Amino acid sequence: MSLSFTPDELRFRDEVREFIAARLSPEMRRATSLSVSFFSDPDLVAPWQAALNERGWVAPGWPAEHGGPGWTATQRWIFESECSRAGAPQLSPMGIKMVGPVLIRFGTPAQKNFYLPRILSGEDRWCQGYSEPGSGSDLASLKTRAVRDGDHYVVSGTKIWTTHAHFANRMFALVRTSDEPRQQDGISFLLIDMDSPGITIRPILMISGDHDVNQVFFDDVRVPVGNLVGEQGRGWTYGKYLLEFERGGGVNSPKLRAALEKVRNLAGSDLSHRAIAYPEIAMRLSEIELDLQTLEFAELQVLSALQRGENPGPVSSLLKLRASEIHQAISRVGVDVVGQNLMVEERRRPLAALNEELLVSPEVLSVVPRHLNGRANTIFGGSSEIQRDIIAKQVLGL
Ligand SMILES: Cc1cc2nc3c(=O)[nH]c(=O)nc-3n(C[C@H](O)[C@H](O)[C@H](O)COP(=O)(O)OP(=O)(O)OC[C@H]3O[C@@H](n4cnc5c(N)ncnc54)[C@H](O)[C@@H]3O)c2cc1C
Repeated sequence: MSLSFTPDELRFRDEVREFIAARLSPEMRRATSLSVSFFSDPDLVAPWQAALNERGWVAPGWPAEHGGPGWTATQRWIFESECSRAGAPQLSPMGIKMVGPVLIRFGTPAQKNFYLPRILSGEDRWCQGYSEPGSGSDLASLKTRAVRDGDHYVVSGTKIWTTHAHFANRMFALVRTSDEPRQQDGISFLLIDMDSPGITIRPILMISGDHDVNQVFFDDVRVPVGNLVGEQGRGWTYGKYLLEFERGGGVNSPKLRAALEKVRNLAGSDLSHRAIAYPEIAMRLSEIELDLQTLEFAELQVLSALQRGENPGPVSSLLKLRASEIHQAISRVGVDVVGQNLMVEERRRPLAALNEELLVSPEVLSVVPRHLNGRANTIFGGSSEIQRDIIAKQVLGL
């Protein structure tokens, strides 16, 4: 991949900028800047996804035959960078970047025809049913059981930390369909309708007060066998394929760059009494800048590999680890820059729902809750300790 843009790529960048200027409303921008969770609320995302879908730009990583835009790696990079710079809402990755690639690779033609267009349009909202109480890092020990009964599986058990289950109408889940000596061999990948009888969703509140995650209970939930992806008992393989995309198939550094820019602006403004004048703050911002540049290059390398039709592979763990740590470093500086003055402004959430005038600028008000929610970045999608294990074994061969 060349690091300078060709005239065609510059034209493409202008096209993206024109599109954003025409379709991203000030209301969407404001709500996005007030959204402190890792995932934007679906109501905020819906109009933006509809605009992108009209243009065929929802799923930059999908092959053109399934509704992807057929972009090069550089075009994907340009698109993500421009959206982040402009403050566009973050589309939910669970359909587009997680279950979508699995269905494209392992789904039946019927599953592809039914689900893929609904992911693109946003008609279906997905959640990820992997973790269980006692089965997070040690995922292969999961116990939620699916027993075959005629044309159905009967599912019972519980999933936990399920992000946005309360907004989702579908879940992709790993379930136990048999007890094999090697636990991984008895796991299957199932698509579950969230409005099926027997499903209960219990909210779990985040430390910031936001409601993002849930515990989901299955009480003899009947799932048609047509909702099995691939072969029974091979779910572990599909689940791991999905995790590669979850951790490494996306582009995080443009979002991180936008977040860093925000904090740098705050540090240079009167809102923080020009905190950037303190050498410690200036030094930390510079260190993050260097870390971010390194991540950018690594992401560009992975994008190039994807472009050649390869999978992200275990290097996706490296990207996940560094992106989550850099995210936390940025939010921590943000708190040090403006945090103390803000604790007194703490009010109810979601901030985007506030209809009264804010006492301080939205960018400032969102700093502390964003920092608090960001603590989870080094846990979800696989904790940092687990990523380090994978890097040691599979990337470095230790
Ligand atoms: C905000 C949030 C959203 C989430 N969203 C989802 C979701 O949508 N769907 C879903 O399925 N899951 C979700 N998760 C779950 C997440 O993937 C798990 O929390 C994560 O995999 C860690 O598992 P655990 O919580 O069981 O912790 P444990 O595995 O019990 O780990 C506890 C600690 O021990 C460390 N540890 C464990 N094993 C090892 C080891 N072998 N070597 C070294 N250290 C080790 C861990 O790194 C961690 O620090 C979410 C979690 C959070 C916090």
